[in-house]
Amino acid sequence: MSAPSIIVGAGQAGVRAAETLRRLGYGGGIMLIGDEPHPPYQRPPLSKKFLLGEMSEQQLWLQGDGFFIQNDIEFMVDMRVSMIDPHLRRVRLSDGAEMDYHKLILTTGSHARLLPVPGADLRGVHTLRTIADVLDLREAVVGVERVAIVGGGYIGLEVAAVLREQGKAVIVLEGEDRLLKRVMSPLMAEFFLKLHLKHGAEVRLGEKVVRLLGQSTVSGVELDHGEQIAADLVLVAIGGRANDTLALEAGLPCQDGIIVDEHGQAAPDIYAAGDCTRFPLRRYGRFVRLESVQNANDQARAVAHAIAATPEVYDPIPWFWSDQYDVKLQIAGLAQGFDRYTAEGDPDSGSFSVSYFHGDHLLAVDAVNAPRAHMLARRQLAQSAGARAP
Ligand code: FAD
Repeated sequence: MSAPSIIVGAGQAGVRAAETLRRLGYGGGIMLIGDEPHPPYQRPPLSKKFLLGEMSEQQLWLQGDGFFIQNDIEFMVDMRVSMIDPHLRRVRLSDGAEMDYHKLILTTGSHARLLPVPGADLRGVHTLRTIADVLDLREAVVGVERVAIVGGGYIGLEVAAVLREQGKAVIVLEGEDRLLKRVMSPLMAEFFLKLHLKHGAEVRLGEKVVRLLGQSTVSGVELDHGEQIAADLVLVAIGGRANDTLALEAGLPCQDGIIVDEHGQAAPDIYAAGDCTRFPLRRYGRFVRLESVQNANDQARAVAHAIAATPEVYDPIPWFWSDQYDVKLQIAGLAQGFDRYTAEGDPDSGSFSVSYFHGDHLLAVDAVNAPRAHMLARRQLAQSAGARAP
């Protein structure tokens, strides 16, 4: 019997790759191996409804009971792949077993960056990536009054919104001089700043944390100009890094992300999809690493096509969303490199959009409580010949 195709990482991309292979009629064995003690689950609610306690663990699962049996997919839970031998086409598992593969698909995701300062390992310092992280955080915030969030990106701001709804005193410390600076216009950054201030969060911009204070448990943060801010709990939300060590050790080219081609292929018989990849996004003329559900799903589908059907070039219109209080932000395209922007609608009305351009090329549209503007933007971006940024 020939070896199965092995998918490493049972998250959004892993489960989508397995499902698509079967849907395309792939008749070989499929093994999905995940190192978390859960079925594959969606992460976006982790910093939103699941953190609030408005969603159960079961509601996070990406597939219902019976999916693996019905699709003849062998799912190994709580098992890590610790080594890849591309020459022998073999992987080693954390229990020491070794298995040959027909095709290998790496969907290992990403991890939260840690704060590279003294005190980062104190009790009471959290990051947020997994169900286990949220369960820890939910337990830890009970009885806590003052929370410091380091990083004013999407996850930091979403958690700030949830904790404010729970009545915690929240201070967001952002190193740049405006929120989401790399990806947003000053207008949009100002809107989100006002939103968080209106709900009672303190937001400090241009603040660099140089130390976390405390003996065994965190008691505050120290800023580069010497000021100390008291906090009973610190959430570090300063972005993610690709889980590419396994691939790197196997000799695959990596650069904060496994380098793949436009079909998701990294090496002969080895593919990768989702947060762990860096891939050529033709329409923007550069290599990107994206952390989004859209990318995990669509790149995994492209990989399954490359293996089991006619290969398709993966050149998506990236899209993403973020929920903060009563605001739904929907983003189409990539704004990085914009040199001008235009706004439609009035931010004070709570529903508006901002379009980003480089020269005449539309790069991206941010839509706030404006789902039609978002859908229109996706269509416009799909029709444009290519929105090349500098
Ligand atoms: P993951 O879903 O992370 O799955 C990778 C899996 O592989 C993990 O379970 C990991 O433990 C496992 N693994 C790693 N190494 C190994 C190994 N060696 N052996 C076995 N298993 C391994 N995106 C949006 O579009 N909108 C949002 O609003 C949004 N909100 C988010 C909120 C939070 C808190 C987080 C953390 C992410 C959010 N995202 C959002 C991003 C989105 O969830 C990710 O882009 C998506 O989950 C990526 O899917 P993936 O399959 O690449 O990785």
